[in-house]
Amino acid sequence: LSVEEPTNEEVKPPPLAGANVMNVILVAAECAPWSKTGGLGDVAGALPKALARRGHRVMVVAPRYGDYAEAQDLGVRKRYKVDGQDMEVNYFHAYIDGVDFVFIDSPIFRGLGSNIYGGNRVDILKRMTLFCKAAVEVPWHVPCGGVCYGDGNLAFIANDWHTALLPVYLKAYYRDHGLMKYTRSVLVIHNIAHQGRGPVNDFAYVDLPPHYLDIFKLYDPLGGDHFNIFAAGLKAADRVVTVSHGYSWELKTPEGGWGLNGIINDNDWKLRGIVNGIDTKEWSPESDIHLQSDGYTSYSLDTLKTGKPQCKRALQNELGLPVREDIPLIGFIGRLDDQKGVDLIAEAVPWLMDQDVQLVMLGSGRPDLEDLLRRFEGEYYDRARGWVGFSVKTAHRITAGADVLLMPSRFEPCGLNQLYAMRYGTVPVVHAVGGLRDTVRAFDPFSETGLGWTFGRADVGEMIHALGNCLWTYREFKQSWEGIQRRGMEQDLSWDNAAQNYEEVLLAAKYQW
Ligand code: ADP
Repeated sequence: LSVEEPTNEEVKPPPLAGANVMNVILVAAECAPWSKTGGLGDVAGALPKALARRGHRVMVVAPRYGDYAEAQDLGVRKRYKVDGQDMEVNYFHAYIDGVDFVFIDSPIFRGLGSNIYGGNRVDILKRMTLFCKAAVEVPWHVPCGGVCYGDGNLAFIANDWHTALLPVYLKAYYRDHGLMKYTRSVLVIHNIAHQGRGPVNDFAYVDLPPHYLDIFKLYDPLGGDHFNIFAAGLKAADRVVTVSHGYSWELKTPEGGWGLNGIINDNDWKLRGIVNGIDTKEWSPESDIHLQSDGYTSYSLDTLKTGKPQCKRALQNELGLPVREDIPLIGFIGRLDDQKGVDLIAEAVPWLMDQDVQLVMLGSGRPDLEDLLRRFEGEYYDRARGWVGFSVKTAHRITAGADVLLMPSRFEPCGLNQLYAMRYGTVPVVHAVGGLRDTVRAFDPFSETGLGWTFGRADVGEMIHALGNCLWTYREFKQSWEGIQRRGMEQDLSWDNAAQNYEEVLLAAKYQW
């Protein structure tokens, strides 16, 4: 009996962390599958597992928004002051896929359900203040498997403005006092559009020594000085990561930096772009649990030609669309807001509906855009569906059943749906911006290379041009189409590479002293 060694270099896993084993604590306002409104939740659920696979001891800290069956009450009680009020928190713990998931429980998180960013500015500021205060102390009093992490070779990964206070607290509460000296913090920018802005006197809520006020102050030509949590986090963090190379470049421009471009330019030396991976356990056509009923089927590269059409049929059936294999089915999945370019799709709908295509849109968010989806469905009931709501199952099924995924985002820090699409042999048509530019190489019919269609400006004419080429190829050049699908599916989009890059950043921060 002989066991064959893999001959293909790419199938060998990257080298493990070895002597550089770290304690890593990722802190995020949302974590899939327990809480998720977008890509941040997916990242918090998946990156830690990939870091653990590399040999690190890894914890995720997230608020406990509901009852999570897997997580046990650790019986640890702590009190923190927020806006003069004493608040007690409890800690819940689950150990899953090599990662310690710690959920911070307090009445101010409980019951938020999917509305995790709900409430007014001060409500959410208080929630995030409590969350970051509790999270920065987790290594000291939350035993995981009986043992606290402590600060040995410890690195925090904070995410977006919600947890940008954490690097500040690490500094102000510990490092300024000679404690946790070698603990470093990395702040990841998933989306710069939300920053935790408020009037300067919001500083009173965050409970820091007065000399810290300066790092929160940001001058805005329209409104003068304001309070900005992301600004403070970017300055206090030891390293900053953004979720793609394209986005790290855009953040330095006035259009892409949303007022923080100056600070990002000043801190360029600590900035690095790392493209997100995908959770291949959750998003693989071979094993997708949402494809195991209602006529759907799992499929792989080998069964693409039968499996994918079956999923398309099942989707058409489920949505009550005419069941036709030859008609291109175009999908859209995403939050309905300015960012995602839904208005461009709206402008293109009259043209699109003339092309003998089916259009399926899934999204939730701005009420006027939700109405728009319903209107499309009403007006073009024989060929369009607008599913308003947040449904993970439907997202998976559209990803499998559609031929084309349309992402005309005005800006897109990384974007996950185009990655999922490629994994499922669904061809992306995207605005070449941020992570979309990084990940979707344009199809070149002469060399038969590339992964989809891109357009350079967020403009309906350009989008229609790209879609037109895409539909033409779908109809007339079956082999080219299949080549695009296959190249997409063959990519290694897993978190393993990204985790190795994160590890480098965490280590670089360690050796800065
Ligand atoms: P963003 O973080 O800007 O929302 P990403 O593309 O990075 O965008 O991630 C979005 C994630 O949220 C993906 O996993 C996507 O499938 C999911 N998602 C967005 N809208 C919906 C919806 N209405 N129903 C189900 N999943 C959704």
